[in-house]
Amino acid sequence: MAAPRTAKGRAKVVVERLANEYPGTADDLCALRHRNAFELLAATILSAQCTDARVNMVTPALFAAYPDPAALARADPEALEEIIRSTGFFRSKAKNLTGMAQGIEERFGGEVPSALEDLVTLPGVGRKTANVVRSVAFAQPGLPVDTHVLRVSRRLGLSSSDDAVRVEHELNALVPAAERGGFSLRLILHGRSVCVARNPRCAVCVLADICPTAPLLAKQTKAATSKVRTPAKQPAKHAGRRN
Ligand code: SF4
Repeated sequence: MAAPRTAKGRAKVVVERLANEYPGTADDLCALRHRNAFELLAATILSAQCTDARVNMVTPALFAAYPDPAALARADPEALEEIIRSTGFFRSKAKNLTGMAQGIEERFGGEVPSALEDLVTLPGVGRKTANVVRSVAFAQPGLPVDTHVLRVSRRLGLSSSDDAVRVEHELNALVPAAERGGFSLRLILHGRSVCVARNPRCAVCVLADICPTAPLLAKQTKAATSKVRTPAKQPAKHAGRRN
């Protein structure tokens, strides 16, 4: 197909093709295991600087010991740290978890709030985490921006900044509200498997025909290959020698 000329047109195609490639709702696509908004919020706090797989190993014991915000708000710090130790940065994460639970208890009647401006008042909860909870647990508009979303959306010509908040606003203007959570998770999956940071796999990418970066990368690869194939000119063996 002819490549769309505008970011809006490109975004429409990207939304459709990635939905075919990585089907499901935001909740289906979320790799963090959870049964409710409280569990997802706790798991997302733990996922900072940690893999989702590692978090999923830790959360069954965490949720068995602290099944709701009231229990987590009263947690003994050392016992909590011990459970979450393997996720890294366990002291600050333990503080954030109890602070988050206390905030929910004291200010939100024991229920995880769904509004972005309320979620970000909780310890350990930034815009990214708040948007994960909104889009996955509450099926509300929310577009979490992580390093994969930053990289892939820039390569696709959908964003122009390295600043996560700016990119969130840029993408919000291009993606329908109902699609935002799933779109973010799909960009993350695509960024992990195809549009990887080094040597993106454009040859197998379903977006290659509309991606403005694909031809530039192909040109770079061609230039690099021909440099390797063409040996540098050797100086003449006796150049400069006078007989
Ligand atoms: S064509 Fe290449 S650069 Fe563009 S999105 Fe796909 S993998 Fe990334």
